[in-house]
Amino acid sequence: MFEKSINAYEDAKKVIPGGVDSPVRAFNSVGGTPPFIARGEGAYLIDIDGNKYLDFIQSWGPLIFGHCDKDIEEAVIRTVMDGLSFGAPSVLETELAREIVEMYDNLDKVRFVSSGTEATMSAIRLARGVTGKNDILKFEGCYHGHSDSLLVQAGSGMATFGTPSSPGVPADLTKHTLLCEYNNIENLKKCFEQSSDIACIIIEPIAGNMGFIPADIEFLKACREICDENNTLLIYDEVMTGFRTSLKGTSGIVEPQADIITFGKVIGAGMPVGAFASNKEIMAHLSPDGAVYQAGTLSGNPVAMAAGLTSLRKLKANPAIYDDLNAKAVRLTTGLKEVANKYNIPFQVNTRGSMFGFFFCDIDPKNFKEVGTCNFDRFATFHHGMLKRGFYFACSQYEAGFISTVMTNEDIDACIKAADEIMKDM
Ligand SMILES: *Cc1c(COP(=O)(O)O)cnc(C)c1O
Repeated sequence: MFEKSINAYEDAKKVIPGGVDSPVRAFNSVGGTPPFIARGEGAYLIDIDGNKYLDFIQSWGPLIFGHCDKDIEEAVIRTVMDGLSFGAPSVLETELAREIVEMYDNLDKVRFVSSGTEATMSAIRLARGVTGKNDILKFEGCYHGHSDSLLVQAGSGMATFGTPSSPGVPADLTKHTLLCEYNNIENLKKCFEQSSDIACIIIEPIAGNMGFIPADIEFLKACREICDENNTLLIYDEVMTGFRTSLKGTSGIVEPQADIITFGKVIGAGMPVGAFASNKEIMAHLSPDGAVYQAGTLSGNPVAMAAGLTSLRKLKANPAIYDDLNAKAVRLTTGLKEVANKYNIPFQVNTRGSMFGFFFCDIDPKNFKEVGTCNFDRFATFHHGMLKRGFYFACSQYEAGFISTVMTNEDIDACIKAADEIMKDM
C-alpha cells in the first residue's frame, strides 16, 4: 500500500540528505516512510500509491483554501504567461503590500522576501539597526526559521544567553541571543536584568512550533510593557498565524500590538513568500531609504504575489470564513477530546481560528518543557493509525494542525470516528 513511496524514499535518500528538503518531512519522530505526494485535490492529498488523505497540514499552513483552489490557480497561470520574474518592480507587489497594511493600524510598509526564515532574519536586522542594540530575546520552543542566531537552545539555565542548537553555528553568533521560557513573566524580567542591550523580543504570539500553545494575554502584555520601558522592539512572528488565526492574525485576537510583524505561508498561498512590516518610521531605516541592508533577487516574485493577492482578497471578501473554520476546528478537537475521555486517555486540545492542536498529556502545556512531558508513544500510534485510515496529521507532537475552507463536517466526523478506533486500543 506504500510500496511506491517506500521505493521513492530509497531513491531520494541517494541524492538528497535524508531523502527530504526539510527535516520534518522525514517522519523521524514517528518512524516509518513519508508518503510521496502526487497531487492535491481540495481537502485531500493523493500519494504516488494512490492513497488519499484528508490533509490537516496543508503545506504547513499556506493552503487555507485547500489544494488547487480555482481562483488562485487561474491567477497564477495568468501571471506565468507574462513571465516568471523580472528583477524589477511590478504593480502586484504594491497591491499585495496594500492588502496587508490596510488590515493594521500599526503597519504602513511591507518588504517582501522569499521565505519565513528570511523575513525573521531581516526583521531582526532591522530591529538592531533601528535601536542600535545587539542582543535579541527569543523563547524556548518558538521557531523563527533556521538562520544562525535563531538556532539556539538553553544553556546552563533559562534566561541566559543560549548555545547553538546545531553544529555549524559558531557560539559567537548565538551569544547575542537570550533564551527565555514561554509564558513566564519572571523569566522575561530576568533576561532584561541580564542585558541592557536588547534590540528586540521575537515571539510566536500563538505558538505553532512546539505543538499549539497560544501565549497568555498577560504574558504578551508583559512583553509589550518591558519593550516600551527598555527601548526594545517587539516582533510578532506571524509567519504561521498571519491570516490564519484571524484576518489580522494574533493582532486581531489580542490587545498588545507588535512593532514589527513577520509574515509567510498564507500570504503566498503555497508559493515561496515571506514579508516583514512595520510603521513608516521603522521601515525608513531599510535600504534603499535607510542604511539597514536587505535584498533579494526573487523577492516580490510576480507569480507568488499573484497567488497571495488572490488568496488575501478572497479572505477579506468573506471574513466570516474564520468563524466557519474555527467552528470546524472546535468540532474536531471537541470530538477527539470526547473520544479520549471515553477511554480515559489524558488529552489536551486548543484552537484559534483555523489552527488547532492536541497533546497526549496530563497537563495543558504552557511551554516547551511541559510539551516534553507528553506521551510520545501514544502520539506515534495515533499518527500511524490515522495515516493508515486516510488522515494526514503532522508527524510530530511539536506541530500544529490546520483546517481549510474545503473541509466538511462529514470529513471531520469521519476523522473522529477513525480516532475512536485507534484510541480504543491505547
Ligand atoms: C514556518 C515558520 C518560519 C519559517 O518559514 P520558512 O518559510 O520555512 O523559512 C518562521 N516562523 C514561524 C513562526 C514559522 O511557522
